[in-house]
Amino acid sequence: MSAIKLDRVVKSWGSARAVDEVTLEAEEGSLLVLLGPSGCGKSTTLRLIAGLEQPDSGTVMINGADVTHLTPAQRRIAMVFQSYALFPHLSVAENIIFGLRVRGVSRAERDARLKRVADIVGLAQLLDRKPSQLSGGQRQRVALGRSIIAEARVCLMDEPLSNLDAKLRHEMRTEIRALQQRLGMTMVYVTHDQTEAMTMADRVVLMRDGRIEQIGTPEELYGRPATAFTARFVGTPPMNLITRGGKLIGIRPEHIRMVSQDGHPARVTSVEHLGADSIVLCELDGQPILVRQDGFSKTSPGDGIRLAWKAGDEHQFSQTTGDRLVAAMSEIKAVATG
Ligand code: ADP
Ligand code: MG
Repeated sequence: MSAIKLDRVVKSWGSARAVDEVTLEAEEGSLLVLLGPSGCGKSTTLRLIAGLEQPDSGTVMINGADVTHLTPAQRRIAMVFQSYALFPHLSVAENIIFGLRVRGVSRAERDARLKRVADIVGLAQLLDRKPSQLSGGQRQRVALGRSIIAEARVCLMDEPLSNLDAKLRHEMRTEIRALQQRLGMTMVYVTHDQTEAMTMADRVVLMRDGRIEQIGTPEELYGRPATAFTARFVGTPPMNLITRGGKLIGIRPEHIRMVSQDGHPARVTSVEHLGADSIVLCELDGQPILVRQDGFSKTSPGDGIRLAWKAGDEHQFSQTTGDRLVAAMSEIKAVATG
């Protein structure tokens, strides 16, 4: 049974559809990521699941029950937002158990749950501190602990890591994923960051202008993008899209090699050394194309080079619709609906 199911959900603001016929499912105990550029409808979709917004049409199901017209409290789900508010005058422990106190949970039960949760989020040594005495990542963990202690089976997170620096973001996404798996929570996690989606998700729902562009595992979206939009959004640096012989083809920078013979003649425009690898911007038939090379690239701007890739690494898209060619659409639909 799916823990969360949205069926043709629509939500408009005035004449603009923020969420346009969205149908999706999250399996119990899985992590579903809603991914997409700013303004594509991720937060609105999450708020519809939470019950903070009412859909104009369509249904929202949680654990097999139609909750479309239930209040957020009746849905019994936990939520963490980008701007999590902690009470500055309360200790870490009091912040975490605040919701339990409001609900009248007994002291003994509160203490037992607090101990468990503090260990999970790694705050056992910091329970007496005030939020002002914590780092950003530690504060984020307090917010996380507060949602976990509710022991809701469904947890919704809206860009919970975007206020953190890169290193902490990396640590926290690993922790959240481990926690979700350990507790067997069903999680819907919103982000615009494709790296977070790729590293955390069981399945990714890529949204664009209120609609679902593609649903699949990270591997499916990366390896078999259904549209040119998905191809560019998933993977970094993005897939190259170039026109050759009247066709729109896509090749990932990591699938292009520099060769000494044969290949396509190109010229180096600029080189970015990242340490472990280098991103070389080239020009091929007057079109920009990125090439990823392991290690420190020995090429320099102005160099004439030759580029090659395997036929199997070429993706073809319609120049008019951007839809993937070659693969039958029925195959993509099968992946999209699981
Ligand atoms: P995302 O989270 O993907 O950035 P949102 O779901 O927040 O996108 O917003 C989707 C669209 O709906 C945007 O165009 C946004 O401006 C609009 N929108 C969101 N909330 C409201 C609101 N309360 N009133 C009017 N428009 C809104
Ligand atoms: Mg948002």
